[in-house]
Amino acid sequence: MTQSTQDISIRLPDTSIRNLPKGSTGADLAKSISPGLYKKAVAIERNGELEDLTAALNDGDEVKIVCVGDKRSYEVLRHTTSHVLAAVVQSMFPHAKVGVGPATENGFFYDFRTEGGKAISDDDLANIEKEMKKFSSGAYELRQEPVTDVDAALKEFRAKGEIYKAELLEEHRDHNPTEYYFVDNNGKRVWSDFCAGPHLPNTKFIKAIKLTNVSGTNWRGDVTKDALQRIYGTVWWTDEELEQYLKRKQEAEARDHRRLAKSMDLFSTHELAGAGLIFWHPNLATVRQELEDFWKKEHRKAGYEFVVTPHIAKSELWDTSGHNSFYKDNMYSLKVDEQEYVLKPMNCPFHILIFQNSKKSYRELPVRMAEMGTVYRNEASGAVHGLARVRGFTQDDAHIFCTREQFVSEIQGVYRLIEKIYGTLGLTFTVELSTRPADAIGGAEIWDFAEAGLKKALAEMNVAYELNPGDGAFYGPKIDFKLKDAIGRIWQGATIQLDFNLPERFKLSYTNADSEAEQPVMIHRAIFGSMERISMVMIEHFAGAFPTWLAPTQVIVIPVTDKHNDYAKKLVDELIDEGIRATVDQRSERMNYKIREAQEAQIPYMLIVGDKEMEHKTVNIRYRRGDGQLELSLEDFLNKIRAEVKARAMESAIVSSQS
Ligand SMILES: [Zn+2]
Ligand SMILES: [Zn+2]
Repeated sequence: MTQSTQDISIRLPDTSIRNLPKGSTGADLAKSISPGLYKKAVAIERNGELEDLTAALNDGDEVKIVCVGDKRSYEVLRHTTSHVLAAVVQSMFPHAKVGVGPATENGFFYDFRTEGGKAISDDDLANIEKEMKKFSSGAYELRQEPVTDVDAALKEFRAKGEIYKAELLEEHRDHNPTEYYFVDNNGKRVWSDFCAGPHLPNTKFIKAIKLTNVSGTNWRGDVTKDALQRIYGTVWWTDEELEQYLKRKQEAEARDHRRLAKSMDLFSTHELAGAGLIFWHPNLATVRQELEDFWKKEHRKAGYEFVVTPHIAKSELWDTSGHNSFYKDNMYSLKVDEQEYVLKPMNCPFHILIFQNSKKSYRELPVRMAEMGTVYRNEASGAVHGLARVRGFTQDDAHIFCTREQFVSEIQGVYRLIEKIYGTLGLTFTVELSTRPADAIGGAEIWDFAEAGLKKALAEMNVAYELNPGDGAFYGPKIDFKLKDAIGRIWQGATIQLDFNLPERFKLSYTNADSEAEQPVMIHRAIFGSMERISMVMIEHFAGAFPTWLAPTQVIVIPVTDKHNDYAKKLVDELIDEGIRATVDQRSERMNYKIREAQEAQIPYMLIVGDKEMEHKTVNIRYRRGDGQLELSLEDFLNKIRAEVKARAMESAIVSSQS
């Protein structure tokens, strides 16, 4: 293709250049590449920004055609579908006024004010969904037009009672507002909305829709403003994708830790005590105890020492640490006898005070100080959520104070500890390294040293990682671990964080080999993050079916009839003597009922004892999954379950061949 003066040059993702006549759009570009590409094209990415396929291109643009199924195609699909929802709702509920309708992570929503008419209920969703599919199959084109006369448009919106649209337009009047509208095959405008886009070129792409629920909200999420109704939905390119998503969602809901908290009696929160404060019930307290014991053992092996520090400290400490200036909004304070105290939001300054309590020589480094430290942070009450977002939590915190020479091997030590702990819990992870942000404190020398050290530590262990330039904290670079659970969901996991700020503020020092004072390197690290977070991940990862070593009750003995009660009780006592968490079900219920209940409670082992077992001095073992049975002597069973618990095994080795 030769370039005329009327041509524009567009750079494609493979860096090749395409020349097109002036005035060409994304659609023209797609067509010029191949008719097959044009058929799948739904939007463009111009210089990194998502835009309409119909947008006119400029000379020198870098353009990627976004096709059906591309990562960024979903937000265009979902946002466009929200307009279809609004158009349909307004035809079915003519009194409904529209708010906003963005795409969300897996779907979309649209807000409506229905006051003064029929409210929208969950029962209406199936009909609305059907109408949306019908509407979309009409293959309405989406066109856009700049709002040139804002005042006229405002007048029109207000006349129709669309006060929220008017409010938004008023706000955006200086930002080249645009109006989008659907047109039918005869070029007739059927519904329009004030929106910045981008949208699909045509509604024919919208097929695999599912409206999920309707809930209450307020205009702009502000409880003092108008009450609105929000319809949530999800949409995918194909029915298969939609089905898979709904299955994943259902699975995630079945595992939801707040739901299992009720059915398995795990934890509660209380209005009377305050939001975001967790009450651990015996079952989850046991899981936590096991996780803590395991954590402690592994830390002891890795050369950590344990400390215990207070929950409050004078405000002056938080002046020295700097928290009073950058963290004040998150801290709880109390005034006693004219002295202000603060509930600790972090453990770091406390560990520093212990480190500083005696003069340190290089021979004493590294110091690895660990604590299950309970901290309090004032999260917005609307943000607290189960165990995920809380106001009081216990961090599995530790701080390492070391020399510059020790720094790389200390990071590697933390990495190996994380690998061991997550490996035991059956969690896989990915690693991200975040480097110097724009507001970094400390000189270039220390940042270069720290970033190079972190990279070296990871490279020497052949750890693949994603680099997030500029995402470090202002006081140092960090390594983040992202956990992947049994159904592929990603959770925030461990962090290893360097700190150049606190050692400076507290004037930390040690005496080096040349008898000079030197500042130690300070590393913050948490592996579980907090006991609340890891417990939540464990509940959802195992869907409540904890491996035997974590299970609140490991064994339940079920006598066949009342006359086997004494034998059953004797077995339980022996199991407890051997350190097994065992209980007996002596209720006068039918045996099968007791077995089913024990299975539902996810108790790993049921030991059924009747005449035969009493006579043989054996137990009849059933595992919570499957209906396999196995008769063993109590001694054999004990040896096997002890080995399983000691190995912190994920699966039962006792009856795995049976179930
Ligand atoms: Zn829009
Ligand atoms: Zn810390």
